[in-house]
Amino acid sequence: MIIILKSDIDEVQIKHLLEHIESVGLQPHLSRGTYRTIIGLIGDETEISADRLRSFPGVQDVVPVLPPYKLASLQAHPQPSVVDVSGVLIGGGHLGMIAGPCAVESEDRMNTIAASVKQSGANLLRGGAYKPRSSPYSFQGLGEEGLKILRRVGDRHGLPVVTEITDPRNLDQVLQYTDMLQVGARNMQNFVLLSEVGRTSTPVLLKRGMSATIDDLLMSAEYILAKGNSQVVLCERGVKGFDNATRNLFDVAAVASVRHLSHLPIIVDPSHATGRPELIPACALAGLAAGADGVHIEVHDCPEEAMSDGPQALLPDQYAELAGQMSQLAKLLGKTISQVGNAAGDPA
Ligand code: PEP
Ligand code: MN
Repeated sequence: MIIILKSDIDEVQIKHLLEHIESVGLQPHLSRGTYRTIIGLIGDETEISADRLRSFPGVQDVVPVLPPYKLASLQAHPQPSVVDVSGVLIGGGHLGMIAGPCAVESEDRMNTIAASVKQSGANLLRGGAYKPRSSPYSFQGLGEEGLKILRRVGDRHGLPVVTEITDPRNLDQVLQYTDMLQVGARNMQNFVLLSEVGRTSTPVLLKRGMSATIDDLLMSAEYILAKGNSQVVLCERGVKGFDNATRNLFDVAAVASVRHLSHLPIIVDPSHATGRPELIPACALAGLAAGADGVHIEVHDCPEEAMSDGPQALLPDQYAELAGQMSQLAKLLGKTISQVGNAAGDPA
């Protein structure tokens, strides 16, 4: 951390600042230049608050040298992390292919969709049982009944399952049925929820909030890591834009950016990012090309009957075609798509 001092700071103020720095166990290095005096801090930056330093008289600015997300940063862990979702690997060259309907609606429907996406090459099945809806009058999900259906169908087809947790009060229940917890965009900064999922050892899919910066996303991941759960996969699902041509603005650069900042795997969700089936294939492939560790796609066999997000669902045939393209691209990129029971991954 570097502290830049105001040109009119006096010696008493400098002394006061140096004493504070030493009192928290850091070593200050004062450097007096012709125009500016700065103090470099040596030691663990997390021991001191940048905002506290900024409020000292005579301080112009404080420039942290390390990112505030200590555990999520590449410095903390220079090798890419690999997250193991009940045998399906994500990260470090392994792609997670998450597919399924927005919400679990019925066992028959779930079964039909799971059979088709599995056949196409998906390795994880998704479906929401607790749905965070903008309107309290919209379908809210089947709750525990939905979790039971998802579990049975996942087991039947050899697909580990991913479902959203919206409320820490449901955590024990959801954990009984799922292989991976999804924290949705609307809850990315629900710090109580993040801390609670951080206390578990179940892998977490953490979606980027619609107005969250990349730093915000990594700080939210830090909440989970700080509680001891290292199994975190990030998800770029689009941010609020100014153009209604797409549901959100797909930020493919976020994928490449995260690669430079963090060891955590990151996948893309072109379904929520674009909201338009005809744009999903291009954005899924762009995400993989940008270095994503997987793709999350909503698939429904009868979108007009879907209880949520029908307009953005791919039909099973459309998913099959895209999955074939993703598998070819994976091969080109030297990545593998692991399936349960084959954790090392088949060459794609
Ligand atoms: C979902 O995955 O169905 C969902 C609600 O996603 P998001 O949190 O990204 O909006
Ligand atoms: Mn959805």
